[in-house]
Amino acid sequence: MKKTLTILLVLVLVISLVACGNSGGEIPSGGGNGDGSQKAGKTVGIAMPTQSAPRWIEDGGNMKKILEEKGYEVDLQFGEDVVENQVAQIENMITKGVDVLVIASIDGEALTNVLAQAAEQDIQVIAYDRLLMNSDHVTYYATFDNFQVGVEQGNYIVEKMDLDNVEGPFNIELFGGSPDDNNAYFFYDGAMSILQPYIDKGKLVVKSGQTGMDKVSTLRWDAATAQSRMDNILTAHYTDDKVDIVLSPYDPISLGVISSLKGVGYGTEDLPLPLITGQDADIPGVKSIIAGEQTQTIFKDTRELAKVTVEMIEAILEGKEAEVNDTKTYDNNKKIVPSYLLKPVSVDKDNYREVLIDSGYYTEEDLGL
Ligand code: BGC
Repeated sequence: MKKTLTILLVLVLVISLVACGNSGGEIPSGGGNGDGSQKAGKTVGIAMPTQSAPRWIEDGGNMKKILEEKGYEVDLQFGEDVVENQVAQIENMITKGVDVLVIASIDGEALTNVLAQAAEQDIQVIAYDRLLMNSDHVTYYATFDNFQVGVEQGNYIVEKMDLDNVEGPFNIELFGGSPDDNNAYFFYDGAMSILQPYIDKGKLVVKSGQTGMDKVSTLRWDAATAQSRMDNILTAHYTDDKVDIVLSPYDPISLGVISSLKGVGYGTEDLPLPLITGQDADIPGVKSIIAGEQTQTIFKDTRELAKVTVEMIEAILEGKEAEVNDTKTYDNNKKIVPSYLLKPVSVDKDNYREVLIDSGYYTEEDLGL
């Protein structure tokens, strides 16, 4: 009898211990599924400006990949630099009932109506890389520090030409980005914040006299437009003088300008190519740097921008506040859009390996090495 009691007691103890163990280790019920079921059926509409620049293909692709891995549906469209295409694509996304919109605009001022339509359907909008202008219906802006992009280009010119120590003067020509892209003004202003004092002192000379975004911009960032502008500048102002520096805001523009220069004999020992900046670290641009033609570019890690944007998307869908690090700079004429600014990185022949290959952004084969 005593033995049976002991066995019973032990059994009771074991059972209660197991029960305790269970409740202690219990995962809050539904925790594992809660996340997934929230995402199920949520669609993100992503409108990118064009596939003509590789960066936008990567931007779109990176975001799509991360979002799909997290269980979202993605509608990714490219407007191919035609504003009406982009408007129609966004309208379609609204009609289909996407849950949030991510837009890298072609013309930042052309989407006010379509953003109002999104607002009517309670679809929040993230401005991606380029600010969406003249609208209240922009929740966040994810981008790189656009002013700093220009500062990096300007500083590079000052340091490489040793402008603080050599007599000069040097001839410089200036190129700007697309006048319908708010970023283009930030790039130009950033660069001029560094270069203007040297122009004022006469150490840098713009022989064409073409300064200011109204004179130096390049509609839709088009390389051929920049090339023909450079052709005209060379014919009109450099028949008996040479260009020492070109401020270029974008790798394809840099390559267009280089073609123009080579066309009149630059790129030889007697007449070396000028120092020429760029932006995006796209493959042709980096190859040109490796070949000793383009001098510098600005790397913007689109993988990081995709991550920041996905965090904003999730915050919006979960009704939370996204992390931002700038609430002062980006006034779109209707509101100051809370922004997350990433850091652009200057790249040239000396650091492209470390920045672009060691980071896994490109492989050696990508760069023809
Ligand atoms: C982007 C740049 C890009 C340019 C042309 C700008 O809005 O910020 O990274 O080079 O557009 O596509």
